[in-house]
Amino acid sequence: MHNVVIIGSGPAGLTAAIYAARTNLSPLVIEGLQAGGQLTTTTDVENYPGFSHAIMGPELMKEMRGQAERFGTTFLQGDVTSVELKKKPFRIVIEGEQPVESKSLIITTGASAQYLGLPNERRLLGHGVSACATCDGYFFRGRELVVVGGGDSAMEESNFLTKFATTVYVVHRRDKLRASKIMQDRAMKNEKITFVWNSSVEDILGGQVVTGVKLKNHVTGKISELPCAGVFVAIGHKPNTDLFKGQIEMDGKGYVLTKNGTATNVPGVFAAGDVQDSKYRQAVTAAGSGCMAAIDAERYLESREG
Ligand code: NAP
Repeated sequence: MHNVVIIGSGPAGLTAAIYAARTNLSPLVIEGLQAGGQLTTTTDVENYPGFSHAIMGPELMKEMRGQAERFGTTFLQGDVTSVELKKKPFRIVIEGEQPVESKSLIITTGASAQYLGLPNERRLLGHGVSACATCDGYFFRGRELVVVGGGDSAMEESNFLTKFATTVYVVHRRDKLRASKIMQDRAMKNEKITFVWNSSVEDILGGQVVTGVKLKNHVTGKISELPCAGVFVAIGHKPNTDLFKGQIEMDGKGYVLTKNGTATNVPGVFAAGDVQDSKYRQAVTAAGSGCMAAIDAERYLESREG
């Protein structure tokens, strides 16, 4: 029987582990299929405090994992296939492993950026393809960029990217934006933003790094090439919460609802990081909420046992 099990090993999960381990709760982290989370798919991280010369995403996660391990966290590599949260202790079923039981649970399964699903998009991820302008925009000073999408994220990312890029082409599959009026207006007024309507990215071009995109216009059927140094995919995020459906309260988009810090509607179950945050989505905010979840879990256990 564990005191606390943490599902997910991004900045939220590993920070929760560091804090829980340092209060002698001997946490177990179930790392999931993408150990280290979204940061393992990025290159330089320049906005995480404490690294004046930047740090590579995978390196940062390795350091966090080592720090959690040093204080007594144990790790289990595997994919959680189901959880039973309706009775205590909570039961967590992991593919190919014995089920695990725990007095408390911290959910840090994160969110996944939606991608277009093109083979070259995957190959060039971190080499010009990104889903995070805040993380990677800085690398494209003086270059031309493409943003894909027509929602608030695409408008926000495009505006942000004009701080660095000479031109940002917003490629949208329809002739109307989904974004809110205020975000649309801001983007329309920005002279560095050019809209490419009724168009889809059919392929991403480049050997080692992105050099352009191949576009298809849905009205004319015309195929064209647009040179650019980076492609920012902004077609939405999906919280990784399928496991918890029907057991934990979520909003309409599947993000876990938290209150009073990191508490969910199930006593003893806490959530931190992108799985409960569609707004900030930063490594540092995820780490901060992971710390909160560990403190919340510790206080919950103390109140039950005290
Ligand atoms: P979203 O509103 O779902 O918009 C996704 C956009 O991507 C849509 O324009 C959609 O096209 C397009 N898209 C989806 N799949 C595509 C594909 N396979 N190929 C090409 N285009 C595709 O997602 P979001 O922009 O990430 O926003 C998510 C939520 O966060 C929204 O509620 C939004 O208001 C909120 N948000 C708010 C702010 C803010 O207020 N500052 C900033 C960011 C996000 P269609 O339009 O044709 O469906």
